[in-house]
Amino acid sequence: MLFSTSEVYGDPLVHPQKESYWGNVNPVGVRGCYDESKRFAEAITMAYHRVHKLDTKIIRIFNTYGPRMRNHDGRVVPNFIDQALHNKPITVYGKGKQTRSFCYIDDLVEAICRLMMKEAFEPVNLGNPCEFTIMQLARLVIKLTGSKSRILFKELPCDDPKQRRPDITRARKLLGWSPQIALEDGLKRTITWFSA
Ligand code: UDP
Repeated sequence: MLFSTSEVYGDPLVHPQKESYWGNVNPVGVRGCYDESKRFAEAITMAYHRVHKLDTKIIRIFNTYGPRMRNHDGRVVPNFIDQALHNKPITVYGKGKQTRSFCYIDDLVEAICRLMMKEAFEPVNLGNPCEFTIMQLARLVIKLTGSKSRILFKELPCDDPKQRRPDITRARKLLGWSPQIALEDGLKRTITWFSA
C-alpha cells in the first residue's frame, strides 16, 4: 500500500478533487520535489501492478491531524494549537482564504484497514470532505482553547494550493466508509492531548 497524498493534485483547477483528475503541479516549483516524488511513486506502483501483477493499493491522503503530532511539525493544526495554548500569535499565511479539509486520524486509520482487505489497485482519496478556510480554522482553535492569541498574517508560501477537498465517492462505495469525527470534536481531542 502506497501512502500517497492530495499533493499529487497540486494547486487544483478541478474542485473537489476526484481520483480521475491528473492535477496541476508546478514541477520546478518549491513543492515540486515532494509532489513529483509522490506522483512518480504512484507511477512505479502501477507499473509493478501491471508488469509484475502485484496486489498494490494507492491511497491519496488529504490533510490529517490528531494527537501525537509534533508541536513544531510545521503543519497548520499543530502550529495553531501550540501557538494558541501558549497565547502566542496565530500565524495565518496569506489572507487565510485558502481552504483545506481536515480528517481526524482515527477516521483515516479505519479507512486504511478496510482498504487493505479489498482488491483495489486504483488510487483512492481518503480524507474528510468538509472544507474550511484557514481563517475559520484559526478562529475555531482560538475558541476551543480559550486562548488570548491574536492573529498574525504572514506571507503566503509559494505555490500554496488555494483550495483542497477530496471527492470521496470511490471510498464510500468501495469501503462503505465516511469520516465520523467532525473538525470541532477532533480538534477538542487533539487539544486535550497537546495540553497534557
Ligand atoms: N498555514 C498557515 N499557518 C501555519 C501553517 C500553515 O496559514 O502556521 C497554511 C498553509 O499556508 C496552507 C494550510 O495552512 O495553506 C495548510 O498547510 P499545511 O502545511 O498544514 O498543509 P498543506 O499545505 O500541505 O495542505
